[in-house]
Amino acid sequence: MYTTRFAPTPSGPLHFGSLVTLLGAWLRARSQGGRILLRIEDLDTPRCPPGMTKRVLSDLKTLAFDFDGPTLFQSARIEFYESEIQRLIKTGFAFACTCTRESLKHTPCRCFERHKAPADGSVFSIRFKAKDPISGIFDDGLLGPVNTLDRYDFITLKRSDGIISYNLACVADDLETGVTEVVRGQDLINVTPRQIALSRALGSGGFSYLHLPLAMRDRDLKLSKQNHARAITGIMAPGTALALALSFLGQECSWITSGMTCQEILSRSIDVFDLSRVPKNSAPAPAGTF
Ligand code: GLU
Repeated sequence: MYTTRFAPTPSGPLHFGSLVTLLGAWLRARSQGGRILLRIEDLDTPRCPPGMTKRVLSDLKTLAFDFDGPTLFQSARIEFYESEIQRLIKTGFAFACTCTRESLKHTPCRCFERHKAPADGSVFSIRFKAKDPISGIFDDGLLGPVNTLDRYDFITLKRSDGIISYNLACVADDLETGVTEVVRGQDLINVTPRQIALSRALGSGGFSYLHLPLAMRDRDLKLSKQNHARAITGIMAPGTALALALSFLGQECSWITSGMTCQEILSRSIDVFDLSRVPKNSAPAPAGTF
């Protein structure tokens, strides 16, 4: 069955850009009678202010989105990620790495030639090395063939401060929860070839990818938590936010009237959703959304 997911990092509230991604993923699933899962990517705790997960969950409710299955909290799944890392070490894909950002500037990493973690107390991260070079090319459900020019075949799985990396947790969860297509923003296009390599090493036949256009603050800057995009539910009525997000995704919106509830807007959007109308290019966020 078609299955996708929405996977916010609760480092800030749900802004217009995240709403566009969520709406695109939700409609992609619902318009095919498929499933959409909710996963909170709260592993990088220093980046996630207390109370933000609650805020994101409450905004999702206000906007009337429904999800399938239980909500997954990555912070509660560390043991699972550790066991996936062990599996990659056993199969020769992962290794302990003592390189630092600074040392990598001058000397390429050879740590993968050592077969055991250093026992002398030195700090190390766990990294993945693809056995075959990563091509950087993949097929996208919206964009067609994409060449990311990304040939970087090392992936950090666990940082030297002990935090499990986004790439490992994301791929392990997508696999374990039966995701068939990853729908997310185009800001993550670059990591996709690496995630494909990682998913193959973890034994998957792979899933499809579809990267949606980004809502931009200005020409080179997407709306993001880092640049303090404001909570969309704090700026405008939730129905207006949904209508603007739907229009950003190129969909027919003339049927939306001011008296409609979010639930009504969402359920009618399922019938009008047309992937071929979704623009391929990122565009400025509408005035008043950030
Ligand atoms: N957690 C990421 C974010 O909030 C999304 C990750 C993904 O969809 O793969 O931007």
